Amino acid sequence: MGIAFYPEDGLDQDTLIKNADTAMYRAKESGKNTYRVFTPAMNKRVTGWLAVENNLRKALDRGEFFLHYQPKVDLITGAIVGVEALIRWRRGDGEIINPADFIPMAEDTGLIVEIGDWVFAQACVDLSEILGKGYGIKMSVNLSPRQFRQEDLLGKIRATLAAAGIGPEGLIFEITEGSVMENEQKAIVLLGALRGMGAEISIDDFGTGYSSLYYLKQLPIGELKIDRRFVRDIAGHGDNVAIVTAIIAMAKSLGMRVVAEGVETGEQLHFLRRHGCDEMQGFLFSKPVAKEVLLEMLDCGAQLDLAAYDNSPQQPLPFAVRAEGEVTCA
Ligand code: C2E
Ligand code: MG
Ligand code: MG
Repeated sequence: MGIAFYPEDGLDQDTLIKNADTAMYRAKESGKNTYRVFTPAMNKRVTGWLAVENNLRKALDRGEFFLHYQPKVDLITGAIVGVEALIRWRRGDGEIINPADFIPMAEDTGLIVEIGDWVFAQACVDLSEILGKGYGIKMSVNLSPRQFRQEDLLGKIRATLAAAGIGPEGLIFEITEGSVMENEQKAIVLLGALRGMGAEISIDDFGTGYSSLYYLKQLPIGELKIDRRFVRDIAGHGDNVAIVTAIIAMAKSLGMRVVAEGVETGEQLHFLRRHGCDEMQGFLFSKPVAKEVLLEMLDCGAQLDLAAYDNSPQQPLPFAVRAEGEVTCA
């Protein structure tokens, strides 16, 4: 809940509601079941963002966003079974900005909705091309809390799928625990509808948020992604070994697939495979790459020799990616 007072916080209805809205988003940022009273400082943050919002809007209009795709590898077959679409921003000066540096602003200004629409449309067009070439992989797309809150989300998704000429079966929507817990009842209905359409639901960065197992169990979740902060030190027998093995065991018993994010070493791969993790995603196999590079990797029939990692953490990849995206098959 956000609270704004008349007349201190606004003399007209529009200003009052806008300020109460700003306070409400602050409340949502701090978790649920809480309220914030509007303060002018909140608006200062918002004003500072006006410039950022302008830049992001221009970036959209000028087509400065593009997508990279990071492969997800099956830990039984070693094959690429899916990709995650990850946005990048190539600014006018040529510099490439990572999503961590603009998605939070896009989320706060609300522009994430338009940016997200663009991401989804582009991912669908690319998926249609990939499927058309005969590669039956799945496409994961991130949905931020603000996108998830949209009333017309389902209608939009249907329209975009229809425009790209593909069905929902190839899609996995990644949401965070926060999106679910913001409004559990709504999440049950919305996720049920998405699942009913044939798309899959994944919980991203699992374990870093705050969620109720009671609700998670009631939701049609197909996949849990273990955050890379937990994956980082598993091979060194760090504190996170217990967390990672517990997440894998929990997901299994709830009938969900588990994906480990941020897998960078052969030791991590070995550990995850031994503990029954289903898929992995990480720099060990590939960084996020352009669609053209991904297609070449798929052309190589790129498949990891997983069993080899039982003997040694250093293994050759089934392909080599050179600087300007040239791929050589092994
Ligand atoms: P995420 O959804 O958890 O995506 C995984 C992030 O981990 C990606 O960062 C990816 O490049 C990075 N990563 C993957 N493997 C490794 C690894 O082995 N080592 C390391 N150090 N990092 C690895 P990226 O692309 O910078 O994206 C960051 C976050 O920005 C994403 O986290 C996601 O929350 C958000 N994001 C990216 N694209 C979109 C989008 O289109 N829409 C929305 N709403 N959010 C997005
Ligand atoms: Mg993600
Ligand atoms: Mg993640």
